Amino acid sequence: MRSIEHVYINGEFVVPKGNERSELINPATEEKIGDVRLGNAEDAKAAVEAAKQAFPALAASTTQERIDMLRSLRDVIAARPDELVQAMTEEYGAPAYFTEFSVQNTASIFDVMAETVAAYDFERVVGKSTVRMLPRGVLAAITPWNSNFGFIATKLAHAIGSGSPLVIKPAEQSAFQTEVLAKRLHQAGLPAGVLNIVNGTGPVVGAALTNDPDVATISFTGSTQAAKIIQHAAIDGIKRVVLELGGKAPTIILSDADLEEAIPIALMSGFANSGQACVAGSRILAPRSRLVEISERLRIEAERLKVGDPRDPEVRIGPLASRAQWERIQTYIRLGAEQGATFLTGGTGRPAGFEKGWFARPTIFADVTNDMRIAREEIFGPVLCLIAYADEDEAVKIANDSDYGLQAYVLGSDLHRARQFSERLIAGRVVVNGAPHDPRAPFGGFKQSGIGREIGAYGLDGMLEPRAILTP
Ligand code: NAD
Repeated sequence: MRSIEHVYINGEFVVPKGNERSELINPATEEKIGDVRLGNAEDAKAAVEAAKQAFPALAASTTQERIDMLRSLRDVIAARPDELVQAMTEEYGAPAYFTEFSVQNTASIFDVMAETVAAYDFERVVGKSTVRMLPRGVLAAITPWNSNFGFIATKLAHAIGSGSPLVIKPAEQSAFQTEVLAKRLHQAGLPAGVLNIVNGTGPVVGAALTNDPDVATISFTGSTQAAKIIQHAAIDGIKRVVLELGGKAPTIILSDADLEEAIPIALMSGFANSGQACVAGSRILAPRSRLVEISERLRIEAERLKVGDPRDPEVRIGPLASRAQWERIQTYIRLGAEQGATFLTGGTGRPAGFEKGWFARPTIFADVTNDMRIAREEIFGPVLCLIAYADEDEAVKIANDSDYGLQAYVLGSDLHRARQFSERLIAGRVVVNGAPHDPRAPFGGFKQSGIGREIGAYGLDGMLEPRAILTP
């Protein structure tokens, strides 16, 4: 049992004014492992005030000073990755293979931002004017529980790169990761007020931040529903919002795909982080001419994936993060069957041999049409839909017929053809043939998947405002 008692404001760990508590449960065992004392609106206000005081000095920092800060943040994150891996596994059951990747990727976020800052044109000449890209002011960031510290690191890298002090409200379910991260970041020795972290709920601390007149920009990663509330709040204050939201990514298996390679990629894209990923490839589009073969291979390979203790490096699917997530997934599995989809594999309930823990059966639905709710709504669990298409035109139509447009996956033997097909997709990122993660590629979505981009110069643009000086 570990109790987290502090928030981080103005360079100090302090007891928050709020005194509500939230429990932390290990989803693999259903045991209570700790709790966290939550901040309230007063704590949010104090954090914004500290950030506001830190703004002038940070805004005036040189490119080299920002690069140095980013490098020291990278160093404290990269040290002792096991602590972060353990926190992520304990509090939301993320499988070890996924947490290890997340920690490595997190360190690279700071390197990429340091490179970006070094190459970015903060001062430009346009016509006879000099244009300077200036930080907008206090940045408030709100992050979700899945891979929480990676999102905190991304927001922080953008804050430092642009010269904007940050107040962050992480998901309260991720308090262990947040605490490990906060202690590390404190060691990096940033000036007081540049980074502030306030644990709390969305409707209390999140709402206080989004409504605060001293917040200039809100960077939110989370659900489309919460984003709508946040955007309404931003209207009154004329705040800029950067929104990284949900997805319903299509994985298109082209007719020339080598299934030996394509099927494992399709499954791991769909079941990434036990399906609890905004980028999960949850709709698999298969050519009708090869549907029987693809269905059979998907079933066989999915049934081989190891479900179990998330600390086991062989495990590919761990528990869902919470009872609420587990119940939500069960509802969608029942709904799919009611709407006429059939089970290729999986179904409701826990997998055989699991009596405790929020484990769901990895499920693939066949006979799915793109108008069914399981094909349209983000399920956020290990539930995939197999949808047949007649030809490439129909595949494009189905892939793009979604309220979301975050990510897409294309699998085919002819790389030129796969790339041409990718050009027709409405998605912030298209991953061809399981291309490795590129920490420099911009990230963000079309349609209800969001507004704006993160990473590199695209990410920095969203945090900055141009000021033009016109001289005779
Ligand atoms: P969520 O929207 O419920 O919560 C996200 C954060 O918003 C939490 O910190 C929460 O406390 C806060 N929040 C909730 N209501 C709020 C309000 N009214 N005002 C201010 N803040 C509020 O999402 P979740 O369940 O934590 O995470 C899952 C969702 O996040 C999924 O939809 C997933 O697709 C999305 N997500 C998107 C990305 C991306 O980069 N595009 C990445 C990861 C997760």
